[in-house]
Amino acid sequence: MRLDKFLANTGYGSRKDVKALIRKKKVAVNDNIVKDSSSQVHPEQDTVKVDNEIVNYQAFIYLILNKPSGYVSATADDRDKTIIDLLPDSYKRFKPFPVGRLDKDTEGLLLITNDGELGHQLTSPKKAVEKTYYADISSHVTDADIEKFRIGVTLDNGYVTKPAALQILHADRFSQVQVTVTEGKFHQVKRMFEAVGKKVVYLKRLRMGSLILDDELNTGEFRELTDAEVDRLK
Ligand code: URA
Repeated sequence: MRLDKFLANTGYGSRKDVKALIRKKKVAVNDNIVKDSSSQVHPEQDTVKVDNEIVNYQAFIYLILNKPSGYVSATADDRDKTIIDLLPDSYKRFKPFPVGRLDKDTEGLLLITNDGELGHQLTSPKKAVEKTYYADISSHVTDADIEKFRIGVTLDNGYVTKPAALQILHADRFSQVQVTVTEGKFHQVKRMFEAVGKKVVYLKRLRMGSLILDDELNTGEFRELTDAEVDRLK
C-alpha cells in the first residue's frame, strides 16, 4: 500500500497532511527517512515511524451504502435486520458502524466505517455537516413552508430547528421536495414537516457533507469510497 494511504488510514490526517509530514522528513520506514509519499509499505513487514514513534497499523474501511427500507441503522438488533447484515463477512471483521442514523423506513446514503474519529467529526453538532434529503410529501408544499424552514420550525418538544433549505421540485396535491439540514435530531425531517402540518411519506438521503449518493448504486448496494472521497470528508 502507498505510504500516504497507510498514514492517512492510521489517523495522521488527510493525504495532504501526510505529504507535508513526509516533506518535513518526519517519516521513516525501517529507519530510513522517506522522501516520496507514493513509496510502498507492507504493514505486516515494515516498521513505519513518525517523529521516531512506531505507527501501529489499523486498517480503516469506508463504505457508502444505498440503504433500503426495512433495515435499522445499528450494528446489532434483537428484532430487525441491520445495515451490517447487508455486508459480506470480509467487511464485518473490521467492526464497521453506521455514521449517524437513518430511520428504518428511510432509504439512501449511509456511510459505514470503523473510523471513530471521522464518525465523530461528521456527527458532531459543532461541525454542522449538511445532509440533503429527497422527500415525498402527502400534500401541497408552499413557498411559505420554504420561509418557515429557513427561519426554523418548532418541533413537538419545543425545539426550534436551525435554518434549513427547502426546495420544491414539484407541488400539487402531493409534493416532491429536497431539504438540506445541518442537524441530526431524531426523525428530524419528518418532524419538521409535521411542524408545518405536513406528512413525509417517503424519505431518502442524497448527501452528507461532501459525500454524494451516486445514481449507479442501487438500493441495498454498497461500494468502497475512493481515496479522494475519504480525503474530502476528513
Ligand atoms: N430525518 C428523518 O425524519 N428521518 C431520517 O431517517 C433522517 C432524517
